[in-house]
Amino acid sequence: MPRHAGPPSVLDLDPGALEEVVLRAGGRPFHARSIRAWILRRGARSFAEMTDLPRSLLPSLEGLLVPLSSNVAERRAAPDGTVRLLLRLRDGNAVETVVIPGRGGATLCVSTQVGCPVGCRFCASGLAGIVRNLSAPEIVEQFLHGRAEAVSLRPVTRAVVMGIGEPTLNLEALLAALEVVRDPRGIGLGARRITISTVGYPDRVRRLAAAGTPYNLAVSLHAADDATRGRLIPTMARIPLAEIVEGARAYFATTGREPTFEYVLLAGTNDAPDQARALARLLEGARATVNLIPYNPIPGSPFRRPTRERVEAFSRILRGHGIPATIRWSKGLEAEAACGQLRIDRLPREPGRAPDPSPQGVAPLGG
Ligand code: SF4
Repeated sequence: MPRHAGPPSVLDLDPGALEEVVLRAGGRPFHARSIRAWILRRGARSFAEMTDLPRSLLPSLEGLLVPLSSNVAERRAAPDGTVRLLLRLRDGNAVETVVIPGRGGATLCVSTQVGCPVGCRFCASGLAGIVRNLSAPEIVEQFLHGRAEAVSLRPVTRAVVMGIGEPTLNLEALLAALEVVRDPRGIGLGARRITISTVGYPDRVRRLAAAGTPYNLAVSLHAADDATRGRLIPTMARIPLAEIVEGARAYFATTGREPTFEYVLLAGTNDAPDQARALARLLEGARATVNLIPYNPIPGSPFRRPTRERVEAFSRILRGHGIPATIRWSKGLEAEAACGQLRIDRLPREPGRAPDPSPQGVAPLGG
C-alpha cells in the first residue's frame, strides 16, 4: 500500500478488515458489506449518501475510514467525446484515466503505474520515468471514476489496461484489482471485455497466462527488427522480438485467447514497405491481428505521424501476406497530444531527467 497519512480507504481493506473497522466505529457486520456495495456498485463518494447507514455512525466512521483514496483533480474533454481524467492520489501523485465513447458503450483506458520505467522513446509517459506502482485499490478506483464519467453518456462495456505504466511490471496488484472489477456484485466487467497491453516481457506474459483468467492480450512490437526496436525501446533491447512473439504464442496456447500486436507507426522510422514485409515474416504462423497506430506527435518529440497513404500501404502489405491488420486513428487528439500528457504537463520541470529503468519498489525489467 502506498505511504500516506490518514485513515485507509474502503477498498484498501479486505472484507474482514473493513468489518473490523466498522465494528470499531459502532456499526454492525452488514454495514461493512453495505459500504463496499455502495462504493463498488453504486459509485458512492461519501458515507453520507449511503442512506441505509445509521446517521449516528457517520462521525466515528469518518474518523476511521475514507470512501476513496483518489479524486478527480482535472477533467479534459475532446470534441469527439473522449474525456481524460487526472486523478490525484493520497500521496500527492497523479495518474490518468481516459473514457472513450464508442457505438455500443464506453471504453476505459486505465493506468497501472505512476510514470513508466520502460521509456519508449515516442511516449509521453515514459519521458519522466517511474515514480511507483499503483496499488490494487488505486487501479479499481480508476474504473469507478471512469464509470461515473461515462454514465451520463453510456455504460462502460470495455477496458484497456493501456494507460500509464507497463502492466506486467505491476502484475500482482493488477490481477488483484481485476478480480474486484470482474465481480458481478460490483463493477461486473468480464475478462473478455478487458485487454491488457504489454511491451511483451516473455516471462511475465507466461505468468499472466498461468494466472488462469483469459484476459485479452495486446503485445506492443513497434518494430519488425531488433535493431529498430532497441532504438525505440532501449530498456527492452536485450530481449529479441522472436522471444516476444513466442511469448505471445504461448499465451494463446495456454488461454485460447488470440493476442493482438500493436505497432505505432513513426514516419521514416518503422513505416517503410520493407519493414511491413519483415513484420509479416516475424508473425508468420502466429494467430493474431496487427493494430497499426499512426503516431500522435508530442511536443519536443523527434517523431512524426506518417501520411495516410504510407499507413494504408503498410496495412495492405500485411494483409497481402495473410496478416489481418487494422488501423487505429487515435481518439482524443484534441484533448491532449498523447497518452500520459495530462500528467506530464503537471510534473515539476526537471530538465534532463531521464527514464529510470530500475526504480525502487518496481520489479526489475524482465525479472
Ligand atoms: S508506451 Fe507504454 S510501456 Fe512505453 S513508456 Fe509509454 S507507458 Fe511505458
